Amino acid sequence: MMRNFDQYTKKRLNHYYELLRQKAERIRDHRVNSIYQAYPEIKELENKKIQAGIGQIRNKINGFVEKNTLDLAEIDQELIKMLNLHNIPLNYMEPDYNCKICQDRGWVGNNYCSCVDRVLIEINQQDNLYLPVPGQTFANFDLSVFSTQKNPVFFQGQLSPQEAMRGLRTIAKRYVDKFRDNPENLYLFGTTGTGKTFLMSCIANALSNKGVNLVFIKAVKLFELMAQRRILLNSFSPDPEEQDLVNRKFDLINKTGLLCIDDIGLEAKGLLNTYSDLIVLLDDRYNANLPVIMTSNLKPSELAEDYDERIQSRITGNYQLLMFEGPDIRTRTAKGKMEQDAD
Ligand SMILES: [Zn+2]
Repeated sequence: MMRNFDQYTKKRLNHYYELLRQKAERIRDHRVNSIYQAYPEIKELENKKIQAGIGQIRNKINGFVEKNTLDLAEIDQELIKMLNLHNIPLNYMEPDYNCKICQDRGWVGNNYCSCVDRVLIEINQQDNLYLPVPGQTFANFDLSVFSTQKNPVFFQGQLSPQEAMRGLRTIAKRYVDKFRDNPENLYLFGTTGTGKTFLMSCIANALSNKGVNLVFIKAVKLFELMAQRRILLNSFSPDPEEQDLVNRKFDLINKTGLLCIDDIGLEAKGLLNTYSDLIVLLDDRYNANLPVIMTSNLKPSELAEDYDERIQSRITGNYQLLMFEGPDIRTRTAKGKMEQDAD
């Protein structure tokens, strides 16, 4: 049975396999180079082998054997002897593919290889790491869960929670509509359970549906990645594969059309260097006119105390600030489900 995937999945699969093959080939190149460096005689024999092959073809075309044609079989034998002597496998030039069946092509004949299922799981995991929860959309944004009762702890009794959320939703929708022409930075702040993450997810899902490339990442994950990147940068001989992976992830975050950072809190307080890394990231994106949306339970003024003044000055200078008030206690039960989903 021929399997079929949608265009997006096909593209992702192709890209994934291409990277796998490139990786296997890079490792191969590295291995071959080190063998040649250690045993130049092997490289010389390989060169002779190529010349002999060319000679053979030339002889075939000319119809006679030139005097100085190298004997291919003889060179081959000598090469094998040399490889055995140094315990080098005869197929040392073959890349070590992940999947021996399809050689990381994903195809066998004209059908998908059995390794496709495993790759699909991995691709989905990668996606989920950087995408908002799919169900958190404007269509699922239920205003009726917010109380219509005005209450002194909520915007000094000026607005009911529902009116406040309606206002925030309007701003969020307008943000989506104006995104192409005027991509702005947003800072959504307020106590836990007020729907900040939910609203940011609504924006992200709406823009993702419009084809905007975006990364949606928990602040903790981002800080972990930045710390890992720093360790690799400072390490004497970093694992090139690991470094490559971390750099690629960071590059994706740095250059994506919209970066959504969820829950900037105090989690990264121990990792002091990551603050300067965050500042560099924010500045890079600001200079490239690439927007950022952040959610946090810290007020902008608290950012300076608990985080870093340089971060606070950037947020207050370059971000539109959206305040979420604490939930009305009387509506907590009704809002329970949304809170769980949201924050
Ligand atoms: Zn395969």
